Amino acid sequence: MIRERPIGIDLGTTFSAAAWVDDAGHTEIVRNSEGDLLTPSIVLFSEAELVVGREARNATIVQPDLVAEWVKRDMGLPYYSRPIHGEKFPPEVLQACILRKLKGDLVRELGEVGRVVITVPAYFDEPRRKGTADAGEMAGLKVLDIVNEPTAAALAFGERLGYLTPGDSAKEPMTLLVYDLGGGTFDITLLRLAPGKIETLATDGDVQLGGHDWDMRLLEHVAERFRKVHRLDPRKDPVAMNRALAAAIDAKHTLSARSRAMVRVEIGGQAMEIPVTREQFEEMTADLLERTASTTRQLLTAARLAWKDVHRVLLVGGSTRMPMVAAMLRKLSGIEPDHSVNPDEAVARGAALYAAYLLAKESGAASHANFSITNVNSHSLGVEGIEQDTMRKTNAVLIPRNTPLPTKVTERFVTKMENQPSIVLQVLEGESRAPSECTTIGRTVIRNLPAGLPKNWPVEVTFEYAANGRLTVKAIVPGTDQSTTLDIERAVGLSNAGIDRWKKPIAAAAGFDAFEEMVQEVMEMSDGQGGANKAPRDAQDNEMGEAVAPMGEAGASRNSAGGAQPSVTHFASTAGDARPSSEESGHTTDEESPPGDDLVGEAAKIAFPGKNQNDSGSPVPRWMVNLIGHTVAALLGLLLGYLLLSYMRPDSFPWPW
Ligand code: ADP
Ligand code: MG
Repeated sequence: MIRERPIGIDLGTTFSAAAWVDDAGHTEIVRNSEGDLLTPSIVLFSEAELVVGREARNATIVQPDLVAEWVKRDMGLPYYSRPIHGEKFPPEVLQACILRKLKGDLVRELGEVGRVVITVPAYFDEPRRKGTADAGEMAGLKVLDIVNEPTAAALAFGERLGYLTPGDSAKEPMTLLVYDLGGGTFDITLLRLAPGKIETLATDGDVQLGGHDWDMRLLEHVAERFRKVHRLDPRKDPVAMNRALAAAIDAKHTLSARSRAMVRVEIGGQAMEIPVTREQFEEMTADLLERTASTTRQLLTAARLAWKDVHRVLLVGGSTRMPMVAAMLRKLSGIEPDHSVNPDEAVARGAALYAAYLLAKESGAASHANFSITNVNSHSLGVEGIEQDTMRKTNAVLIPRNTPLPTKVTERFVTKMENQPSIVLQVLEGESRAPSECTTIGRTVIRNLPAGLPKNWPVEVTFEYAANGRLTVKAIVPGTDQSTTLDIERAVGLSNAGIDRWKKPIAAAAGFDAFEEMVQEVMEMSDGQGGANKAPRDAQDNEMGEAVAPMGEAGASRNSAGGAQPSVTHFASTAGDARPSSEESGHTTDEESPPGDDLVGEAAKIAFPGKNQNDSGSPVPRWMVNLIGHTVAALLGLLLGYLLLSYMRPDSFPWPW
């Protein structure tokens, strides 16, 4: 039997790459059919066939509406944000098209493709991880596992330094900062590397910042210059703009190696070669670079580390080829940034090493390096409640960000009032104390509480975060037989039947018509969800930073149940007397609340009686009620003050009473 080859795939926002590990344990990047090591993550739906990669990228200039790019940013949403030819596609399907192309290249190079490891950003939440695995399956790949990109990069680096060999006590544990600036996103992660062990300490990033922003700055600059001279704006013409953008990207790359470059701008028969120096380019993008520096500083603070505790700074992502990045990091850290692993290839190589490790472990082979990987959750998870002192809605965090996984936390809350009929558990993800600034990732209700339950009755909420990224939320009301369980993982994504249907046009690399047909078919079969399960995320949830937690191999674990718990938050125990009257508008008794309101009512919260919940049902918006209330109160106050004053100090008024 031929040994299954360890394969890793870096499914990037702008570029993807595949690598494998040879018999000697060395990683190699697989060339695509165009002869390149990197494949642009761009899909072109021509009428006759599906085109992915360089050719698709060329088409973005002239046929932008047939092209899908930056799809990774939309993972977790039901649809890719830009319709193709007017048709909406699930992002997983488009990611699958890219993976299919990579699979084809792997088969051509290696003959046979077994299971693969695919990488995802550390901030990807479970739905986005599952979506990535689904994309692999739709592409006809067997997904061995999903691994975090910084972990993969650290693996590639660790391998180079001999850290993957367990028991090599000569190697001191080291703290590694992985600075990954790609095309569309910026990720920064602190890891601890010890022989046979990789531990994520903390992770952060900016999902709306990448090489593309640098491109756009340069484009703005040259377009302005052109406009001043020719009184024509290339940004107003899509084809001219895309051409100028392509020229700006080329110039940006040139400026990484040379001190000056030319950008050609052409529109309406007018053309201009605009020179740009590296110095100018660095000046016009200095604020972008500073944003990455600021996130980096924040990460260190969050991890309670100083630069003296960091041993290496690892550069990952194509944009770290810009000399300004290394210069900034050198200044910030006092460390010479590490170029030892190719920044475009580190993630794919590391993924292949991880595949090798998993396969070796599976077959019981001792020859391969044995290591453990611990991940952390990238965003805090909590529930919405009412703070007892202030009566304010608050995000009560159960699992703070950067908690090593797996973890289990139980926290006690209380009911808000006597005879409370139901409890709504709204699961939040985010750092803010204000629930409105967090993302709701799930919601569940405990109904039919026994009549006569006293106020301040305990409600025990448990969050269990598995190493594979699955979050389970449980709530029990001791002394009653009421409880609820919520499995967040099932909230979004394609259904299994949907996944199966999509395989066919993807495998055939069919043209647009076949995909369009499938959209219709899948829509019909799953009540208009495009083959998707119920998707609670809305457009606002598209922010990539709002992710939950990584999955992957977890060596160490911390079970904080009963141990390191966050302080218990008690919820308001009395009904609204301390709250603004508008909170209560129209909903003052149980009987007034229609059944089931607590599921949809905006203020339906844990420890909140069902009756106070349906603000959104009111015909008058709350802000208006507030405004009118405050205005009337202010006018009354003024009038009272005026009357008092005129009574006590009649002399200060110009008119006699
Ligand atoms: P992603 O992980 O988002 O797919 P990559 O790590 O492949 O992205 O990085 C792609 C980005 O790197 C693009 O914005 C590209 O323009 C930029 N890039 C690649 N090479 C260079 C270079 N020599 N100089 C500057 N930027 C580069
Ligand atoms: Mg990348």
